[in-house]
Amino acid sequence: MLRTMLLLFYLIVFNFEGQAQVKIKLFSDYSPQSVCVTVTEGRYEILKSNGENLALSKNDRVTITSLNGLLTVKPDSAAGFNDSFIVLKGETGKDVFALVIPGKKLVKRNYSGDLACSAGKRSIVLFNTCPSEDYISGVVVAEGGKQQNIEYYKAQSILARTYMFKYIEDNFGESDYLTDNTDCQVFFGITSDPAILKAVELTRGQVIIDRNKTVIECAFHSNCGGVTCSSGDVWLTHKSYLKSVTDPFCQNSRNAKWEKSISLDRWVNYLKRSGYTGRSDDPSAFSFSGLLRSDNYTIGSFGMPFTRIRTEMHLPSAYFTVNLKGDSIVLNGKGFGHGVGLCQEGAMKMARQGYSYRQIINFYYNGVLIEDISKASILPQLKILLAGYGKGHDNKAKKEVLLPASEGFIVQASR
Ligand SMILES: [Zn+2]
Repeated sequence: MLRTMLLLFYLIVFNFEGQAQVKIKLFSDYSPQSVCVTVTEGRYEILKSNGENLALSKNDRVTITSLNGLLTVKPDSAAGFNDSFIVLKGETGKDVFALVIPGKKLVKRNYSGDLACSAGKRSIVLFNTCPSEDYISGVVVAEGGKQQNIEYYKAQSILARTYMFKYIEDNFGESDYLTDNTDCQVFFGITSDPAILKAVELTRGQVIIDRNKTVIECAFHSNCGGVTCSSGDVWLTHKSYLKSVTDPFCQNSRNAKWEKSISLDRWVNYLKRSGYTGRSDDPSAFSFSGLLRSDNYTIGSFGMPFTRIRTEMHLPSAYFTVNLKGDSIVLNGKGFGHGVGLCQEGAMKMARQGYSYRQIINFYYNGVLIEDISKASILPQLKILLAGYGKGHDNKAKKEVLLPASEGFIVQASR
């Protein structure tokens, strides 16, 4: 029973205010051996696995290093100690800490909420538990870019929230955390950008659902090149809401066009390795130009998917023409990314032209609804957890969160 409860509350939980909390594995693309944590707002306590506590005030710094399966914890203001697992627990409800990895040229990152640290085999393992809307605002700045119109940020906030719930639902019972890299959504910590914070707050709880009330796979990309792709053409998974759309909004944007030159020899060798057995004495045969997005690059009876060429040649998009110029093959492409779902540069332009976030989302996703998460058809277990999330706060449903134990977060529900 306890195990079931733990699984239930691992990914998304409620704190004292009834606000949803999420757990994120930090530095998923790195294996830091050491981190420096500085309290920048509020107060923290280091909770040791033996039950003892150590208080940290604003500006206090602690260096945590993992070595041979043990953490060495060195606060600047107190004696160091060893432990296998510690939690830095925020004490005021408005607690923020900064993280840096010594020796890494990474910008200092700020996080809200709590930080759990354990010693991995070769590195330190870090989990941040923070309010879900803090997480969403961090995702919006990492995935959505800076200095944009608030209607675009509202759309991007809803995408980030929709993606988060979809990820939680898809991984429920298998994984107990979100990652901070492209396996999930990129998250470099919280943001103080007022437009993003406002956009997240104004769309609080809103997600995109399809006609069956299912939370959608809200794919997005940088620039579609003028036409988005149907999901079935790229991933072989048909979704009614991920249909090709002609996009007049992104065409003069930064990532609208690209060009890449490849020597003719390299191109021919690449094609031969890919199964082309035809003639190569007439290079003009390699040219391929289409006015619209095509599925396959074809030479006579030979054909291979543009999506495959894009992946193997590391191209910005799978939407390009092939032209012979002297001894070179020149690829003239449009767009950046897989082309499915919302086109970010098109959405930015729509927002600048006065379209609302609802119009933007409905332009790129076919036949969807933007609703509070409480209206979505989701796992019954998540439904219970989400009782107090979004609009129509139910404070009676608030939960208590108890941290920590040496084996991880223990979350206890109380009504
Ligand atoms: Zn576009």
